[in-house]
Amino acid sequence: MPGAAPPIYLDSNATTRPAPEVVEAMLPLLRERFGNPSSLHGFGSRVRGEIDRARERVAALLGADPAEIVFTSGGTESIAGAIRGALALGRRRGARRVVTTAVEHPAVRAAIALAVEAGDAEATVVPVDAGGALDLAALERALGPDGRDVALCSVMWANNETGILFPVAEVAALCRARSVPLHVDAVQAAGKVAIEARGAGLDLLSISGHKLHGPKGIGALYIRRGLGLPPLQPGGGQEGGRRGGTENVPGIAGLGVACALAAEHLAAGGPERIARLRDRLEARLLESCPGARRNGAADAPRTGNTTSLRFPGVDGAGLVLELSREGVAASSGSACASGSLEPSPALLAMGIGPEEARGALRLSLSRETTEDEVDRAAAAVAGAVRRLGRIERRHP
Ligand code: PLP
Repeated sequence: MPGAAPPIYLDSNATTRPAPEVVEAMLPLLRERFGNPSSLHGFGSRVRGEIDRARERVAALLGADPAEIVFTSGGTESIAGAIRGALALGRRRGARRVVTTAVEHPAVRAAIALAVEAGDAEATVVPVDAGGALDLAALERALGPDGRDVALCSVMWANNETGILFPVAEVAALCRARSVPLHVDAVQAAGKVAIEARGAGLDLLSISGHKLHGPKGIGALYIRRGLGLPPLQPGGGQEGGRRGGTENVPGIAGLGVACALAAEHLAAGGPERIARLRDRLEARLLESCPGARRNGAADAPRTGNTTSLRFPGVDGAGLVLELSREGVAASSGSACASGSLEPSPALLAMGIGPEEARGALRLSLSRETTEDEVDRAAAAVAGAVRRLGRIERRHP
């Protein structure tokens, strides 16, 4: 539409725009430097260094050793491989239980469900409280006194819907005391909070390129040295035999640059700047929309970029469509499952009723978000909530 204001992107937990530096790093590797890094000739050797450099950059962001980083096709593959591999390791010592939480991403839930259906695992799901905080005492009970039958504990660092952060260091201490391997889904945490995988005593940690201004279809799994995880994928010995398949060199290089930029952003206090914008947006909406509620406790630690609100009497999916017409990209708390809009399991797990959960709206900012965008989005959301609320009251 000529003259129309540019759209406002507030759905950064779904995906982010690849940074210009990321695209610049990838283009020559798609155009001219297309060699297979395993080739002995110059085409191969000219790109091998790209993988090494990217591995160093990813390791630096995660507080890991480069040798502990394996490139994958994204968060979902890293997670599935971590869970499958840890269960295989557990089987060797007669441990088959997975301890996880009620608010995990479908990538974690589905990988565990698959193992349970196949008869390879049992799951113990730890609840969260009404504010979204992890019940650490319940997690400790779930691990048992010695954790002997537990093959894996898998928890997310930052929730994709509410941004709420789990106390990973405390979970790690509980796991370490029982020698239970810990996997952390850090897909929504990387680039937003400082990560020290080694220092925190984590065994496995998953990240995804497209959530931190990198490309889609690339991710990484941190595997603590000495863990002995079986290969994620059999094949030609790539990734030190840990994941077969010709490497996605442009994606890997892009992820490396994205991680280097994320490290700079963290060091420069970027997340605090974003949190101030998020707080401004959230405060305006809570003020201007009668009955609006925050999903999660006001004092729950959370990533600075995310706000999740609910507007009673307003359908979240309808609100997202209305906002899209107004040029604001947001997300509802509903997951589109088999054609029906189901309320989000994560919000239900916080004790929010299905009707109220259907009124959820997630707005997620990025380092590109400006104050002007936040102010325009606040006005657009308030207007859309008012209109939809009126229609809903007339046609309940
Ligand atoms: N884990 C969390 C917390 C996520 O938010 C996502 C993506 O939405 C994933 C895992 C899956 O990552 P990917 O899209 O790279 O497969």
